[in-house]
Amino acid sequence: MAKQKKSDSSDKGQTAEKSKGVFDFNGGWDYSPSPESTGHVKLKERYELYIDGKFVAPDSGKYFRTTNPATEKVLAEVAHANEADVDKAVSAARKAYETVWSKLSAKERGKYIYRIARLMQERARELAVVETLDAGKTIRESRDVDVPLACNHFFYYAGWADKLEYAFPNRKVSSLGVAGQIIPWNFPLLMAAWKIAPALAAGNTVVLKPAETTPLTAMLLAEIIHESGLPAGVVNILTGYGDTGAAIVNHPDINKIAFTGSTNVGKIIQKAVAGTGKKLTLELGGKSANIVFEDAPIDQAVEGIVNGIFFNQGHVCCAGSRLFVQESVAEEVIRKLKDRLDTLYVGDPLDKNTDIGAINSKEQYESIKKHIEIGKKEGAEIYESKCLLPKNGLFIRPTLFTDVAQSSRIAQEEIFGPVLSIQTFRTIDEVIQKANNSPYGLAAGVWTDKGSRIFNLTTKLRVGVIWANTYNKFDPTSPFGGYKESGFGREGGLHGLGAYLKIER
Ligand code: NDP
Repeated sequence: MAKQKKSDSSDKGQTAEKSKGVFDFNGGWDYSPSPESTGHVKLKERYELYIDGKFVAPDSGKYFRTTNPATEKVLAEVAHANEADVDKAVSAARKAYETVWSKLSAKERGKYIYRIARLMQERARELAVVETLDAGKTIRESRDVDVPLACNHFFYYAGWADKLEYAFPNRKVSSLGVAGQIIPWNFPLLMAAWKIAPALAAGNTVVLKPAETTPLTAMLLAEIIHESGLPAGVVNILTGYGDTGAAIVNHPDINKIAFTGSTNVGKIIQKAVAGTGKKLTLELGGKSANIVFEDAPIDQAVEGIVNGIFFNQGHVCCAGSRLFVQESVAEEVIRKLKDRLDTLYVGDPLDKNTDIGAINSKEQYESIKKHIEIGKKEGAEIYESKCLLPKNGLFIRPTLFTDVAQSSRIAQEEIFGPVLSIQTFRTIDEVIQKANNSPYGLAAGVWTDKGSRIFNLTTKLRVGVIWANTYNKFDPTSPFGGYKESGFGREGGLHGLGAYLKIER
């Protein structure tokens, strides 16, 4: 069944217009609304900091609000941690590291991590709904991607906790101490899992700060961790603004910083950490190339392009935001892509039929809009989906640009929204040059029938992850990370474990 826009009933007349094709799928077919229930979710009015196994008020007494970007209504208040709170949390993490966590057998550590994973599974529906409310991402994605993957990370690393000497054979491995972890707003729970699970498996303790616009699932995770009986101080979770993150980065008693976020803040952190001896991993932005050759299965490639750029409203560091299509099939691919754009549902993120939810924050909304205007001014041709948008909330139509110049800002800068720039190419050498002509180097997609071409490209594209005939596939066992301005270090898999260990010969 072809999907129709459901935001407004006035739309029906417009879509009922007869097409000239044999089948008229536009004749009033529609999905009934299918909103996920929020009845089982009881948000607190106020969330405190989680320090040393207790939920405590912030030193400053200050709180800030977190809102639902789909309605712009306030969901809850969360605490703003300052330097004194960071100091308390780091002291608690140090004490827990020295007196409990590093003394515990690896097998026991693994059991705690496993227990956290099971408790997350038990509260999976609640976690998915809260993630959707706080972040604006669709319930389909939070339910089927974010939450299961977050659980999988804990399960996966629970298994490694007592096998570190097998993970790195013939090496001497030891934990680092206290890890400071700062995460962004695009995958709040999943990023917390990417950070906390390997840190604990490697025997470290943790101070984690979620992003200011999406703190709620991190606070639910704090409740889960508390319920798991994890010894006090092993994991501390502090909500706050950039100053809270900076206080973690600059704290002298931290041994490792793991940061995911913008390249600008990553550079500030790299400078702050230089010369301190703190181990550092940075997972920053991207402008990834999705490359379609003429022998690719075109219909599948179109789905892959849609998934690559519109998954999570395009708020994905590895989003396939630069599409390169071989000239001989460009007309067909772009035509099919435009048709597909018109079938995408943009609207209530809690509705199970919605493909594209709300933009995470007003600031991000303005930034995406600004880039769309830049694209138009630079002379690229814009195509926006014809869908209607909800009257309230932060929504942007899926958008693509053709006739994009290599030097254009929309081809060079990370937009972090549902906006695709399309370029064409004739030869493999040309597309390698164009794809590598970016300050970033996080990911790429290659669509072709030829295995040899895929292997050729994987050695020549300067990026960390390359997907072949698919896109945005994540797995706890495989490493993820970039080159150049996309950062350094890897998360996931054995590489992700190694980032939390001292490894000696
Ligand atoms: P930031 O890099 O500003 O935020 C990421 C995290 O770092 C947040 O928890 C933030 O806190 C914290 N932070 C901010 N300033 C500092 C600092 N000086 N020291 C330590 N921590 C700090 O990203 P934004 O959320 O503002 O997003 C802006 C852009 O970043 C996006 O448009 C996108 O291009 C990119 N981005 C990339 C991501 C990725 O996955 N690679 C993820 C998110 C964003 P707070 O939330 O309170 O500001």
